Amino acid sequence: MGKETQNMWSYAPALEGTGHLTIQKKYGLFINGEFVKPNSGKYFKSINPANEELIAEFAEANEKDVDLAVKAARTAYDKTWSKMPAKERGKYIYRIARMMQERARELAVAECLDAGKTIREARDIDVPLACNHFFYYAGWADKLNEAFPGKKPKSLGVAGQIIPWNFPILMAAWKIAPALATGNTVVLKAAETTPLTAMILAEIIQESGLPNGVVNIITGAGKTGAALVKHPDVNKIAFTGSTEVGKLIQKSIAGSGKKLTLELGGKSANIIFEDAPLDQAVEGIVNGIFFNQGHVCCAGSRLFVQESVAQKVIEKLKFRLESLIVGNPLDKNTDIGAINSKAQLETIEKYLKIGKEEGAEMFQPKCDLPKKGYYCPPTLFLDVAQSNRISQEEIFGPVLAIQTFRSIDEVIQKANNSPYGLAAGVWTDKGSRIFNLTTQLRAGVVWANTYNKFDPSSPFGGYKESGFGREGGLHGLTAYLKFD
Ligand code: ADP
Repeated sequence: MGKETQNMWSYAPALEGTGHLTIQKKYGLFINGEFVKPNSGKYFKSINPANEELIAEFAEANEKDVDLAVKAARTAYDKTWSKMPAKERGKYIYRIARMMQERARELAVAECLDAGKTIREARDIDVPLACNHFFYYAGWADKLNEAFPGKKPKSLGVAGQIIPWNFPILMAAWKIAPALATGNTVVLKAAETTPLTAMILAEIIQESGLPNGVVNIITGAGKTGAALVKHPDVNKIAFTGSTEVGKLIQKSIAGSGKKLTLELGGKSANIIFEDAPLDQAVEGIVNGIFFNQGHVCCAGSRLFVQESVAQKVIEKLKFRLESLIVGNPLDKNTDIGAINSKAQLETIEKYLKIGKEEGAEMFQPKCDLPKKGYYCPPTLFLDVAQSNRISQEEIFGPVLAIQTFRSIDEVIQKANNSPYGLAAGVWTDKGSRIFNLTTQLRAGVVWANTYNKFDPSSPFGGYKESGFGREGGLHGLTAYLKFD
């Protein structure tokens, strides 16, 4: 199909309805089983990045609020949760999973409105995976001794959890479900640009009858997060976010005895060998970096193509980019939704400028971006050098830096030449090559002939500046346990 043919027709709009979602004007903090006004008296606004309209106002928790949340979590831990038989704890976690499933459509639309991600992604990936995390960890709650035979696993106490804006409900599930299954209580802080689904989850938790204070959900920005990290009565910090803040957190809790897991940035390599199924690989590249606007910490933002097929892959990729639909995230046809915030769009645009100044060739398909809201077309950079900032630094947008390689050793060396090590993708017909690369690539996850696949039973986490500790699977339990 030629380019003209491809663009001759377009899809009619297919907007997801929003009538089933009730958004309150103002949300309080969820502390000790109740929605309460913040001591700070302050609220901040969350807007829809697709059209810049106000979604709702959310409470800004100050130190006093954080202290109240931690106190509620401590009391619930001492008096209720740590004393409850594990089987009973499991039942609550199952109940939360089922109630999330019942409100799945609502959660998906809320995520789409607040985060700017496409309804397809929120509906088919984020929300089902979030429910599955609760289901998966509910199953472990009464089997910890079998999971770690002879090691006498024990809970830690109160877990402080801080999450980013790229997968709001999924990150909340990744954090809360294993913490509860291992018998800990929780204070979770949602990200300041995406607090809506966390508050819907709080409603679900309240309705589930989970004992008061076992899960507390607070909102606010960096200062609120810092207060939670510093609180002396928190036993564990689980953080997902930028490497910069991760380093600050590590410094601030050094010597405190608090257990820490960090899931930070990435600049993941997607590697295409000449024997790979090229059409599938091109789809994998698109899935790896362009769907979800590149707002995935493990996005395949560096592409390495074997020289002999580079021309062909780039042609196919450009052709595919022409057909990607950028626009209203609520439209089921949309492939690339809105960039999460104005600040993030400015960061991406800064890198587009840097890429051009560094001498890389930029390609963007023709597309009409909506007049309001924050959007960025899918972007390729060709002729990128290893030392270029666009191939070294995390951009967190739909921007792909492309390089070529000739030999296996060369591509391993290039792929590992990064301060990060979160994920990688390998596309080849040869099983032995896959095994060779999975052992040599310094990345927490290596996908073979696919990309961005997640499952609650499989651990996820990074090397080097991408952090430490694993979430998901059995490994995810150990982050919330101590052993004799
Ligand atoms: P991003 O660049 O993805 O927004 P951040 O690391 O800035 O990542 O934010 C991730 C989460 O960390 C958010 O919930 C944010 O409010 C929180 N945060 C930001 N600064 C701090 C800090 N100094 N201490 C603790 N949490 C913080």
